[in-house]
Order: sequence, then structure tokens, then C-alpha cells
Amino acid sequence: MTTDIKITKVEKSKFESIDLDNVAFGTVYSDHMFFCDFKDGQWQQPEITPYQSLQLDPSARVFHYGQAAFEGMKAYKDKNDDVWVFRPEENWKRICFSANRLAMPEVPKEIFMNGLKTLLSMDEKWVIPGRGNTLYIRPFIFATQAGVSAAPATEYKFMIICTPVQAYYKGGDVKVKISDHYSRAANGGVGATKAAGNYAAQFYPTKKANEEGYQQIIWTNSTHEYLEEAGTMNVFFRIGDKLLTAPTDERILNGVTRKSIITLAEREGITVEVRKVSVTEVIEAAKTGKLKEVFGTGTAAVIVPITGVGYKKDHYDLPKLDSAYSTMLKGKLLDIQYNEAEDTFGWTQKI
Ligand SMILES: *Cc1c(COP(=O)(O)O)cnc(C)c1O
Repeated sequence: MTTDIKITKVEKSKFESIDLDNVAFGTVYSDHMFFCDFKDGQWQQPEITPYQSLQLDPSARVFHYGQAAFEGMKAYKDKNDDVWVFRPEENWKRICFSANRLAMPEVPKEIFMNGLKTLLSMDEKWVIPGRGNTLYIRPFIFATQAGVSAAPATEYKFMIICTPVQAYYKGGDVKVKISDHYSRAANGGVGATKAAGNYAAQFYPTKKANEEGYQQIIWTNSTHEYLEEAGTMNVFFRIGDKLLTAPTDERILNGVTRKSIITLAEREGITVEVRKVSVTEVIEAAKTGKLKEVFGTGTAAVIVPITGVGYKKDHYDLPKLDSAYSTMLKGKLLDIQYNEAEDTFGWTQKI
């Protein structure tokens, strides 16, 4: 296996021709892309080429059986124009975990890390400076083998593409509806992976919640008694001065942001209880005014404060706090990600 990357550069960068202030999230990609094919039982030579369309056979298995998984990470530019990535090994481990569960080959660490670092150093100018600006990185793997026989493919493609972002959620109200019917994940299922299909299955219930005036759904377990995730994020509840979040299991995704926020909260002296959080407990707390905050965590938006919670026919608005944990913890995390505070945890890596 060779991990040397074959590189073909763009003739002319499109960076100068793009009005970054007016692009929607995920619509513009940086100059280059990274890919590596898996066939004949092994990973082939990795390549970086100009960003371009792919050619796939219409019978490629990804289209029929959904063998696909992805990751989401970000690159940050600090005040000295150095570029940083945040806990990239966690993303590498997780794409291998997802690949395994979907009967796809694991991506070798050297291919993932060399691909990531080489691509970022080539497209460094796409990491826009300034707090809140990032280059969103999307590694993904999918089955390319032609032929609609329903079995794991023998050919795959692993890729990394990058898209510049200013801010994912532009603020405003994020109200969530507690699900009492639909489920995102099942016991023994693929909820803990970043399988592409998990998102497809979420769109319809989310659209229905949107029609009722809610931006996201709080997913519950199969009996709809315990709160698990908010939309595509992990979720935290502040009851009194304690933070509660569900333990990750086979239905709940092991978010890098979640993990980092737990560590940071504990360092700040906040009591964090990682345990099952029941709907009854949260609704009771909302009724008695003890529910101070609910927030989602994920790479794309970092922390999203939730302004209201709906459950069956009732709605509970959350108080507006001057000293929200969500604001404080988001600030601490961004300080580390933008190299503005000492990273005592060894989380960041310079490109
Ligand atoms: C990606 C994802 C998250 C957040 O994970 P991060 O590593 O923090 O970005 C949470 N829940 C689901 C379902 C996800 O797919």
C-alpha cells in the first residue's frame, strides 16, 4: 500500500472569484479534493485533484443499498494565520467505526491524516480568518462497485472535500419538539454511526415538526420516555445548576463536541451527570422553572441554545439567561479551537 499522494493542482484558484459573504452553507467547495479508492482488497494510491464531478455507474451500490458514511470536522485560522484542526483522530476513529458497522473497509489512519493535512495545506487560503469563520471538512466513504446484488460491495471510495463557512446557524429561535412517535435510531441499529441513511430517515419527521413551528426534533428512545439527541446534535439539559446528558450507546452518537463540552464544563466546576434523562423529569423541571437551559452540541454549529420545547400539545419557553452555560462553554471551546487559549488537553493540531 502506498500512502504517497499523487497531486494535480488547479491551474487557477477560484478563490478570488467567490463572494464569500453571500454563499449558502455547503454550496461552494475549495479548489481541491482528496480521494482514495479501495479495490482488489486494498487501498489504492491516494490522490488530490481539482474539485470536480465524479463518474459512477448507475448500478453503484451506494445508490441502491446506501453503503455510505461521513464525518464532519473544521479547520480554524488563528491570529498568526496558522491553521488548526480539532481532535482529528476522533473523526478518523469514528469513520472506521461507522465503516465497520456498514460492512465497509476501515480507512487507514495514514491515508486519512495525510489526506487531510495535505489537502488543508494546499487549500489553506480557504480557511477564512476571523472568529466564527471556518473551513468545514467533509470526509466520506461510499460503495462504488457496479451491480445491484444485495451484498457488501468490494469497491469503495474515500474522499475529503471542504467548504468555507461563516456561521451555520444564524442565531434566532431554535425550538424543539420532543418526539412521541418517530425514532432516529433503534436498539441494535446504526444510530451511533454517521451512516448517511440516518439523515435521510430524519428529514420527514423534521419536516413535519417544521410545519408545527419547531426547527428540530428531540429524539427519544423506542418507548419515547428518554431524551437522546436534538436534530443532528447531542443534547444537554441544565436543571438548576447541573448539566445532564445521556450516555452514548448504540442509539446515541459519540459526538466530539459533546465529549469536549463535558470536559470543559467539569473543568469550570459544573456538575455534569451523564445518565438517562427522562421526558417526565425535563417537563416537570420546565413546569417548575428549574429547567434553565437546553442546548445541542455538534461540530457544525458548536453549541445551539434552544429557546423552547414542545411536548405533545404543550409548549414551554426557556428563560433568557445573562450567564448561560451554553454561552460560556461555547466561548471556552472556541478559544481553544482558534488558539486563543492554552490547549491543556492536547486537542488541537497545527497544519
Ligand atoms: C455528527 C453528529 C453529532 C455531533 O457529533 P460531533 O462530533 O460533535 O460533530 C451528533 N449527533 C449525530 C446524530 C451526528 O450525526
